[in-house]
Amino acid sequence: MSVFVFMYHRTPAEAQDRFDVSLSTFKAQVDALIEAGVKIVPFDAVNDHAAPRHGKYACITFDDGHASNAPAYEHLAERGVRPASFIVRRWAETGVGEHGAGYMQAEELQAIAPICDLGAHGVNHVCLAKIPLAEAAEELCSSRAYLEQVLDRTVDTMALPGGSQSPEVMASARAAGYRLIGTSVASPHTLGGDAVNRIVVPRAARDDFLIRTVREPGVLWAAREAERSFRRSRRETLRRIRASLSAFGGRSAVAAEA
Ligand SMILES: [Zn+2]
Repeated sequence: MSVFVFMYHRTPAEAQDRFDVSLSTFKAQVDALIEAGVKIVPFDAVNDHAAPRHGKYACITFDDGHASNAPAYEHLAERGVRPASFIVRRWAETGVGEHGAGYMQAEELQAIAPICDLGAHGVNHVCLAKIPLAEAAEELCSSRAYLEQVLDRTVDTMALPGGSQSPEVMASARAAGYRLIGTSVASPHTLGGDAVNRIVVPRAARDDFLIRTVREPGVLWAAREAERSFRRSRRETLRRIRASLSAFGGRSAVAAEA
């Protein structure tokens, strides 16, 4: 069984940031999936061996704990869909995060818990593979402890901040008690693994983004390959410019850009 696990960030009335999806677009994207008969499973059921092996499956997740997601959770609850939301400890404690104010705090987390599963997303939203392993372990344990204290229940799911991962970070997350670890690898999740691939939904995504991805994943991979080849050709262009500049004995003005 493959599950297409989608990752949202803010869902405000009007999208501004590149990862914002307006509430109306979000509703249209999810409703299109449901109308097409795609089964939307909870995050903690992505490895459910009891599930049928055939058919299309999806899962809806939210990162960072944005207060703007509350109407999105309610929309999903009305349709019998249970999403998961991954919470940054410091941003929940202060209500302030990388976008300023607008993050759910303890009382709001307790209020949405009946309709939304909650998982950890670090203490400070730092890339765990880029900091010392002892600090990463502290981020993993402390963010889980905070949520467990707020919710008064066990928390064993998380998502990697910035999708940053390494074999050491994954081992540390398992040691910290996480059963499922959401990544930012844009592929369907295949039954069985504890690293759960997730596909980010960007601002530019249209109303049919989810249903098209589930039906024609080739479209997604094609877009990713196009982006890769664009980066490759850009690197090659920069290399040629530098080579010709150095041939003239000049300093490369573009060196800092790479
Ligand atoms: Zn995040």
